[in-house]
Amino acid sequence: MEFCVRTGYHSSSSIPFMLRATAILLIVCGLALRCAADSVESIGLFVAPDPYSQPNHASSRLSKAQALQTASDAQRAGRKGEAATALRLATEAVHHDPDCEPARRALGYERHDGHWLTPYQLRMAKRGLVWHGQFAWIAPDDLPRYESGERKSRGRWISAESDARRHAHIAKGWQVRTDHFQVTTNHSLEAGAELAGKLEQLYQVWQQLCGDFSLDHGDLVARFEKGRAPSYRSRPFQVIYHRTQAEYNAALQSRQPRIAETIGIYFDRQREAHFFHPGEPASVGRNDATRNATTRNDATLYHEAVHQLFQESVRAQREIGQTNNFWAVEGIATWFESLRYHVDDRSGVHFTIGEPDAGRLPAARRRLLDEGYHVPLAELVTLGKNDLQTREDLVAIYSQSAGLATYFMATPDRRGRFVEYLRQIYANRAEANSLSEQMGKSYAQLDAEYREFLESLPESPR
Ligand SMILES: [Zn+2]
Repeated sequence: MEFCVRTGYHSSSSIPFMLRATAILLIVCGLALRCAADSVESIGLFVAPDPYSQPNHASSRLSKAQALQTASDAQRAGRKGEAATALRLATEAVHHDPDCEPARRALGYERHDGHWLTPYQLRMAKRGLVWHGQFAWIAPDDLPRYESGERKSRGRWISAESDARRHAHIAKGWQVRTDHFQVTTNHSLEAGAELAGKLEQLYQVWQQLCGDFSLDHGDLVARFEKGRAPSYRSRPFQVIYHRTQAEYNAALQSRQPRIAETIGIYFDRQREAHFFHPGEPASVGRNDATRNATTRNDATLYHEAVHQLFQESVRAQREIGQTNNFWAVEGIATWFESLRYHVDDRSGVHFTIGEPDAGRLPAARRRLLDEGYHVPLAELVTLGKNDLQTREDLVAIYSQSAGLATYFMATPDRRGRFVEYLRQIYANRAEANSLSEQMGKSYAQLDAEYREFLESLPESPR
């Protein structure tokens, strides 16, 4: 069975593309995440339990003492300047023991009325509001009225229908603010809350993999030595979530004439990511196991949001990758398309990324090993954005880029080097030999190792 994925691309001058991908069977797995974390096949990650994420009912937890040891490992990694590793370990510690204080503090949580809250959650708690996965910020006493179909608007109770009419145009959409994101949507309050919660979880995952991109040693010392984590983002990432594809197309046509060929887009000049609601009813179940089946909409969401996280988390240059190395900008975003959400009794809520059958990896593997398609790295790194996007083999290059990113991100050592390479690209400092220098290997060597990596992966269902 084949289906057609259309996805967008960041910035207004880009050319969208269409990808035909082979449908893959999604495997629901309960990985032994502690062992899988450094596996070359996939990476398992937790998110810190907090109001944005789902309740964590994992049965296989470490003891408090083991969690404390993991928190101390996190601190050691922080001292060494290994941001992503430190954050991953701290998150693992609070997954196993939600009250592990040093790890909570390093991650920015504070205790309030018996709950660990993020800085923005704390700010809202002081105003008497709590996060609700369906209705965003509400007073706990108001929940029954929300559930019976009423909505509070400017201090007055109105019907959900009246509320929807007030927010019918995207310019007057619901605004759902969290620690790092501001979602504007004219679909529904529920859709905005669900998307914002999903983005906050993505942010946690992104930091555990790419934290070294934006956190420097001073940030780590503040977090892990002084217990001072950063507050919420004063200027949150702006995400606009349109009610329908037609409205998305109409709203963005003037910015991107080929918008109809996309299903999500990031504009780096305006610093906005845009998506539209897929059409099915908003998923409201907080323990909704169907999310194990990551949808193509999630893949697009992760792809475009990751462009936004890289572009806006540091003082990045605009128009990055114009003259070279652009493949890596798309490679890291396409790698995140393989991010999968899981919830099961044993491990609770967790994510995997880079599984052999996920995202574009099966296509990358098939093209190289069955069809012999490969753009040598020595050539690939010389391509700037327009060079790459005007090629006829664009779709194949995207899958190769996803495959290469999977290879470079698969082990902690290569991951650190690859994230440093991305830092150079986003600072517009990368040159044709930057990747080779970062990895300490020639491009011919890296081409050969990449092929071996793909050959070593288990065959995925086609
Ligand atoms: Zn992209």
